[in-house]
Amino acid sequence: VPSHRGVADGGTGVRYAGHLINHPDRLEGTRGIGYDYVLAGNGVFVESEGPLMAARVLVEPLDVQGLAPLEPKLVLRHGKIHGSVWELALNLLISSSRLERYVAIVRQDDVYRIKVPDQEQSAGGIKEYDRQPNTVVDIHSHPGSGEPHFSMTDDGDEIGFQVYGVVSNVGAGKPFVRLRVGIYGYWQEIPWSDVFKGALVDVHDCWELPLTAEHALVEAVRGSSFQHTVDGAVVMEHGPEGPR
Ligand SMILES: [Zn+2]
Repeated sequence: VPSHRGVADGGTGVRYAGHLINHPDRLEGTRGIGYDYVLAGNGVFVESEGPLMAARVLVEPLDVQGLAPLEPKLVLRHGKIHGSVWELALNLLISSSRLERYVAIVRQDDVYRIKVPDQEQSAGGIKEYDRQPNTVVDIHSHPGSGEPHFSMTDDGDEIGFQVYGVVSNVGAGKPFVRLRVGIYGYWQEIPWSDVFKGALVDVHDCWELPLTAEHALVEAVRGSSFQHTVDGAVVMEHGPEGPR
């Protein structure tokens, strides 16, 4: 599986990225090993699936005559994560309010658990930490107040296939959380409730805040909200090549 986009086959003949066209009556093309580009009536999407989740994100809105539209989606194979796990993660970030901190939610022993890897913290960032196996979501704090945004450093780091989050305003008052699903360097922001069960209490979900211009563009394409799917359901269809 490639660790970032644009991976060439390196002479091995292995095709990491597949390419599909979403005709009204059929999905045509060849699946890749890592992820697939799908040209649909409403844009270019990237999708992938693995043991922990399946996801599709809109990469570029585009009106393509003659093709059927698609919607972004996220399916956590083992279901949404209990809100108590979120609460614990949030409190770990709050307890380190002056320093940026990283926590991971992993799937281990058939439950979601929190991992706090060794990390060298500073106010400006986390210098180094170990990525945890089977990470479903990782969340780090930005010590500032106000709405958090994924930084260029975050974009450089967050090139796996999982959910990423950033939390700010952990020093006092009501924190903010922003979540996105990532597919090897392509991202789409999602509401907190697409990942966690229960209610988000005393925290602003940036998804609910007034839209940025970029966000509004994505929102215009996808219509209402992110496609909601049944917990753990396998909903991604396979092309004519069959399952990878
Ligand atoms: Zn960051």
